Amino acid sequence: YHAKTNHLGVSFYEREFDTNSPERLMLLADLNNAIKENQLVLFYQPKLNLQTQTVEGFEALIRWQHPERGLLFPDSFMPLAEVSDVIYPFTDHVIELAMQQQKQWLSEGKRYSVSVNISARNLMDERLYPHLKACLKKYKTPAELFELELTETALMQDPERAITILKRIATLNVKLSVDDFGTGYSSLAYLRRLPLNALKIDRVFVKDMLENDQDEIIVHSTIALAHNLKLQVIAEGVENLEIIERLQGINCDMVQGYFLSQPKPWKEMRQWLKDNNY
Ligand code: C2E
Ligand code: MG
Ligand code: MG
Ligand code: MG
Repeated sequence: YHAKTNHLGVSFYEREFDTNSPERLMLLADLNNAIKENQLVLFYQPKLNLQTQTVEGFEALIRWQHPERGLLFPDSFMPLAEVSDVIYPFTDHVIELAMQQQKQWLSEGKRYSVSVNISARNLMDERLYPHLKACLKKYKTPAELFELELTETALMQDPERAITILKRIATLNVKLSVDDFGTGYSSLAYLRRLPLNALKIDRVFVKDMLENDQDEIIVHSTIALAHNLKLQVIAEGVENLEIIERLQGINCDMVQGYFLSQPKPWKEMRQWLKDNNY
């Protein structure tokens, strides 16, 4: 394993945590508390539909407002959350927060879709379906405007099981998309059996596609593949206008990235929408 140090100054291993290190136990205790103390915040990043030039919805991305350490990004705590049981209440909480804020938009007549990220262990957890169902009812969320993002890697850990689970979740009418597409090892045979709505092309292929022919070919082919499978395509990590124009030229459906906006807290995102006449 490769030892790394994240920006908490906590060192950890890329593939596995030192199970009982004091740092790990401390951060875990803090994480449990974070949910109770309402320290978890969702930031929203817009998804622009290239055909209509409108914002269709947002991806909700977690941040942790830590009382001593300040605002923490997911890379510094999600890997730990994901190997511990805290990931279950954590994801439940993210789903609730997202639906609460989406409900405020809906009450103003704004039918934005909202997507949340679901970890591999949540996907394999049979409590995900009843929790989603209960939350959809509690917040009266139009299911077709709520979306789950699942990474390729999570889907392919046990693809047969993922198919069974996602078929059940799909009966709720929520949307399902594959995140970070291209970085894992998707079996196309399984992919076409999943009840998916969209593929999100990973930023690593998008960011250099103007200079790197191979990246361009990968992006282009992925768009064709997705469309042949009747899926929408979202390009992640779009940082300049030239890339947007190129993506538009090769029929990419949607884009997300810093060029449009960095992820922002709900209130700031509302202001951004106003300022940009969306
Ligand atoms: P992701 O789902 O692939 O999210 C995209 C990440 O790329 C986000 O990082 C976003 O801020 C960043 N990004 C967006 N546009 C650009 C761009 O133009 N340039 C660059 N350089 N980056 C861009 P973030 O928010 O730090 O999240 C990182 C990852 O943490 C996410 O990757 C997702 O896998 C995970 N994550 C975030 N929130 C949650 C959550 O609520 N639950 C779970 N399980 N995982 C989450
Ligand atoms: Mg995502
Ligand atoms: Mg992604
Ligand atoms: Mg990612």
